[in-house]
Amino acid sequence: MMRDLAAHAGELDAADPLAGFRDRFSIREGLIYLDGNSLGCLPKATAGRMQQVIGEQWGEGLITSWLDADWSTMPQRVGDKIAQLIGANEGEVIAADSTSVNIFKALTAAISLRPGRGEILTETTNFPTDAYMMQGIETFSGGRIKARAVPPDDLLDAVDENTAAVLLTHVHYKSAKARDLAETTRRIQQSGALVIWDLSHSTGALELDLNAANADFAVGCGYKFLNGGPGAPAFLFAAQRNHNAEPVLSGWFGHAKPFAFEEDYQPAGGVDRFLCGTPYVLGLAALEVGVDLMLEVDIRHVRTKSNALGDLLIEAMEPLCSEFGFELAGPANSAERGSHIGYAHENAYAMVQALREKDVIADFRTPEIIRFGLTPLYLRHSDILDAVERLTKVCRTRSWNKPEYRTVAAVT
Ligand SMILES: *Cc1c(COP(=O)(O)O)cnc(C)c1O
Repeated sequence: MMRDLAAHAGELDAADPLAGFRDRFSIREGLIYLDGNSLGCLPKATAGRMQQVIGEQWGEGLITSWLDADWSTMPQRVGDKIAQLIGANEGEVIAADSTSVNIFKALTAAISLRPGRGEILTETTNFPTDAYMMQGIETFSGGRIKARAVPPDDLLDAVDENTAAVLLTHVHYKSAKARDLAETTRRIQQSGALVIWDLSHSTGALELDLNAANADFAVGCGYKFLNGGPGAPAFLFAAQRNHNAEPVLSGWFGHAKPFAFEEDYQPAGGVDRFLCGTPYVLGLAALEVGVDLMLEVDIRHVRTKSNALGDLLIEAMEPLCSEFGFELAGPANSAERGSHIGYAHENAYAMVQALREKDVIADFRTPEIIRFGLTPLYLRHSDILDAVERLTKVCRTRSWNKPEYRTVAAVT
């Protein structure tokens, strides 16, 4: 059975239109990296770009680089590039701040556009920061705005004429289950609520068309499938019709005339009003390299390969499911999932640690999920089989069964 799969993987690798992209990344020999959905790999071009930005633009140009090196417009420039990956128009996306902060901006903007409505809604099991930001808004509003989370299957029925906005993650961070973006948006908007999509696990992995779906707002990460580096700036999309929202994070970079240094806040026109403070130039420079790389790729190839990698993983894991008790914790059908696959196992945490000894990096998500990220730009089909083989060894030799693997680290 494994031998058949090896031949199959070999054929897929030989016919892979993305095969050449692996060499554009710096990946240590022998490492199988199945965590690019959490922190993407380093593009080889990033170091040179950083050298230029730090050495020349900062080191020599100093403050003149805000204009001469176009630092001041980086949030818009990188945002316009990300727009091409998510089906947005020019002038609808900025690259700035963290996803968490952008969630706050989008939620408060949506609330300002729906005066009189007193609820913001999400689903239980959403990525924690999404729920936490909502809860903070409830507290800050003194209870005028209620943050509510309902089970995923009850969500559409919970939207009513008191719902200002619904915050939803497109691809679930644990199960990888993908929602139907257009249909969900349509159903929610029927009640007059606005929809905010968290695209953290979708951008750079799936075909996205926000404007075809009539989405209101969206946010997403720069350091996952966009390979922008640790702590890369995130992005915010606001559909043009929502550019009249009242920014709550009314910082000077979102002012109509930041360098007029006026006493009173006056929001900029367009998506610029969602900017807040000084652009993160170094982070944006690294992010731009990752985004440029992604723009060279046909995203349909990415999606097709991601599906193939996932299907291969599921098939290769079958013997381990029966022999060692792994359980697929998400959709088996590739059309219903994003670009990672989780397996539940009672010793998941220890196994993730034992896999690292074998140079396979996956990650652990509480309470007992091993999560394998599938990044088509730099993974080969053969890597999937090698990873499963190494996991098989971990299981057979019980190398996960060590006292030091029982304590869960602060960052997983
Ligand atoms: C990764 C992720 C985030 C991360 O938010 P940060 O502010 O960058 O820490 C937010 N939402 C989802 C759904 C994510 O997967």
